[in-house]
Formats: sequence, structure tokens, C-alpha cells
Amino acid sequence: MIDLTYTEQQQNLRKEIIMFAQEQLQLNLSERDHLSKFLRENWVACAKQGILGLYVPEKYGGRNYDAVTTVCVMEGLGYGCADNGLTLALNGQMWAVQEPIVKFGSEEQKQKYLPGMIRGELFGAHAMTEAQSGSDAFSLDTRAAKVEGGYILNGRKIYIGLAPVSDIILTFATIDPTLGRWGVTAFIVEANAKGIVLESAKSKMGLRTSPMGDVVFKDCFVPDSSLLGKPGAGASIFANSMEYERSFIFSSHVGSMARQLEQTIQFANERKQFGQAIAKFQTVSNRIVDMKIKLETARLFLYRVARLIDQNKSPAMEAAMTKLVVSELFLENSLDAIRIHGGKGYLSEYGIERDLRDAIGGVIYSGTSDIQRRVIAGLLGI
Ligand SMILES: Cc1cc2nc3c(=O)[nH]c(=O)nc-3n(C[C@H](O)[C@H](O)[C@H](O)COP(=O)(O)OP(=O)(O)OC[C@H]3O[C@@H](n4cnc5c(N)ncnc54)[C@H](O)[C@@H]3O)c2cc1C
Repeated sequence: MIDLTYTEQQQNLRKEIIMFAQEQLQLNLSERDHLSKFLRENWVACAKQGILGLYVPEKYGGRNYDAVTTVCVMEGLGYGCADNGLTLALNGQMWAVQEPIVKFGSEEQKQKYLPGMIRGELFGAHAMTEAQSGSDAFSLDTRAAKVEGGYILNGRKIYIGLAPVSDIILTFATIDPTLGRWGVTAFIVEANAKGIVLESAKSKMGLRTSPMGDVVFKDCFVPDSSLLGKPGAGASIFANSMEYERSFIFSSHVGSMARQLEQTIQFANERKQFGQAIAKFQTVSNRIVDMKIKLETARLFLYRVARLIDQNKSPAMEAAMTKLVVSELFLENSLDAIRIHGGKGYLSEYGIERDLRDAIGGVIYSGTSDIQRRVIAGLLGI
């Protein structure tokens, strides 16, 4: 049984974050989306609000909240802030860069990188995908050749969120391709290292307010101290990071679904056709009811996995199910919101179609829906 009652502290944090997001993060969103513009000021404002440190130990500048409280705040952020690109990028750094450093980093790495990321001064990217290795992530080509005092990296990472503005890149390379997944090794690379090129941002369908690009390593020397974990531990580190990412990266999108539903109900009550509010037509109200059920389903999965993590239980199956369910339901509700808004839903100026474009990315990143099904099937012994 999942108790979704918020504690007083959670309710207050949630209210506070919603007010912050509504007041400070909405400025010129349609224009920024249209121009694919990333606004550093908004990132820094979120950092000042404490968002990036919610789940990080106090020792490194964080607030050390549990997963349920963190998710509650991140859901509030998505409710108050319609900028899904920004909320995704924040979640990406929190779960796929900061969390692996907290879990697998040396004390020196934690002290060096976490406080700066939490303060919004350092941007972190997670770079795994390559041209020939997407879903089959461990078949990567990027090489890490051992040399005196470190490694030389060569390879190209693609579709990397925040890459064009990143300061720190958590990346993966093989020290020996014949070892398969046991050769995959994780590195924390500083983006100003010699031999790294951060290519300019790619134009994309949605999530345009957060930049994405390629990272190229060309004879890039990284010292031994850049290793995250041991040589050959990269696949386990990646798998662990994906459990967190798949569990929580959609927290804010659940908040977006709640906002989307409220807007849609309001519109359906106001818009009149055939002499009455369209909400009175049963096909319209049924669609809204389905949106509500999908929102609550998404929420249940999200809080269930958060609770499991707080109980130190393995979330492998629940993480894959949460990612699959929430991403697909956000996509479905985004399309339904457009259907109910009619022509208004289709025009860019009202921002309703933006959610749909943003939601499509969700069924691809962090492992496509097919891959989540594959993970679940594997865990079911199929
Ligand atoms: C918005 C966005 C943000 C991203 N951010 C990052 C990032 O920050 N860092 C990063 O490293 N990567 C990132 N990615 C890359 C993302 O993780 C990959 O695109 C994704 O894993 C799929 O890989 P691919 O594009 O190569 O597709 P492929 O793996 O080539 O898949 C193509 C199709 O084949 C299907 N398929 C493949 N294998 C199987 C299988 N075994 N069973 C069934 N179907 C299969 C897939 O489901 C898909 O439909 C991002 C992508 C997007 C869209």
C-alpha cells in the first residue's frame, strides 16, 4: 500500500517550489523554446533554491532529503515550471552525474565537484551514447588507452544533454574491447582538458531550452584520479546510475502532467460549442478522466520507486517500469491535451503543443520503451 499523504514539511517545500517556479522560471518560455535558448540565470536560480542539492549529503552542500521528499519537490517544480527542457536537465545532472559521484566517487572527487554543481557553478553531463552504441550501450567504441599516470581517451559521444555548456563530463570508455562489458570504465573528465571538443548544440524537436550536443575526445589525456570507481567497473556504475535516472528523471514531468490536466479542465469548462461547454460532451469528459487516471498511475509508480529506494531495496524492476509508464503516459496525456484544445492546442503560441514535443524525447532517452520492456522481461525470467 502506498501512502501518498505528504508530511507538513513536504507540503511546505512543495508550495515554496511551486511559487518559486511560477514566479521566476516562466519568462519568455515560448520565445526561448522557439530559439532553442538555454537560460543560465534560470539554472542558477534553481541552484540557489537548493534544487540541485536536494538528495546530496549536507557535507557536500546538499540538503540530504530522502527520495520521497526529493521527488515531491521535483514534482512541484514541474507543476510550477512549464519549461520541461530545464527540469529534465536539472534531473539529468542530479541523477546521472551527481548521484554516481556521491555513490562511487573518491572523497577528493566529491569535494571537488559536488559543491560547485549544487551551487550551479559547474554543469555536469553524462556521456554514454555513441553512433554505433545506443541501446546496446556497452558495445561502445571510445577507447581509454593506459599510459603513465593516466589514460588517453579517443572517441565521440552523441546526443549528450548539457554537453555544449558542460564543465564536467561523466563518460565511459573501454580499456579493452575484448573484455566486453568488463572493459567499460567510467571517467570524470573536465571539459577544459586538452583534446576535448564540445560541439555546438544540435537542433531538436523538443526540450529545446536545454542544449544537447556531441563530445569529442581526441588524444585527450586524463589522469588516474579521473577514474570513477575501478577500471572495468563502468558497466556496473552505468547500470546503477540508470536505476536512479529511470526512477526519478520524470519526477518533474509528473508535475507537468498535473498542470496540463488542470489547464485542460479549465479550457473544457470555458470553451463552448453547440451551445454548451465542451466538458459536457461525454467523449471530452471521458478523455479528461483518462488523463486523470494516467496522471495518478504515473504518480503511484514514481512514489513507489522512491519509497523502495528509501528502504534500501533494489529498484531494478520498478525503475524500468516507472520510466516506461511515466514517459508513455506523459506522451499520451500531451496528445490528449492538444485534442481537447482543438486548433488552439496545435498553435505554438499557447505552449500546449510544446509538451507533446518535449514528451516524445522521454520514450527514447534513459533507454527506449522497448529497452525497458526488455529489462522487465529479463527480470521476469523471460
Ligand atoms: C532527448 C534525449 C536526450 C538524451 N540525452 C542523453 C545523454 O545525456 N547522454 C547520453 O549518453 N545519451 C543521451 N541520449 C541518447 C539516448 O540514450 C539514446 O538515443 C537511446 O538510448 C537509444 O539509442 P539510439 O538512439 O542509438 O537508438 P537505437 O539503439 O539504435 O534504437 C533504435 C530503435 O531500435 C529499438 N531497439 C534497439 N535495440 C532493441 C532491442 N534489443 N529490443 C527491442 N528494440 C530495440 C529501439 O527501441 C529503437 O526503437 C538522449 C536521447 C534523447 C532523445
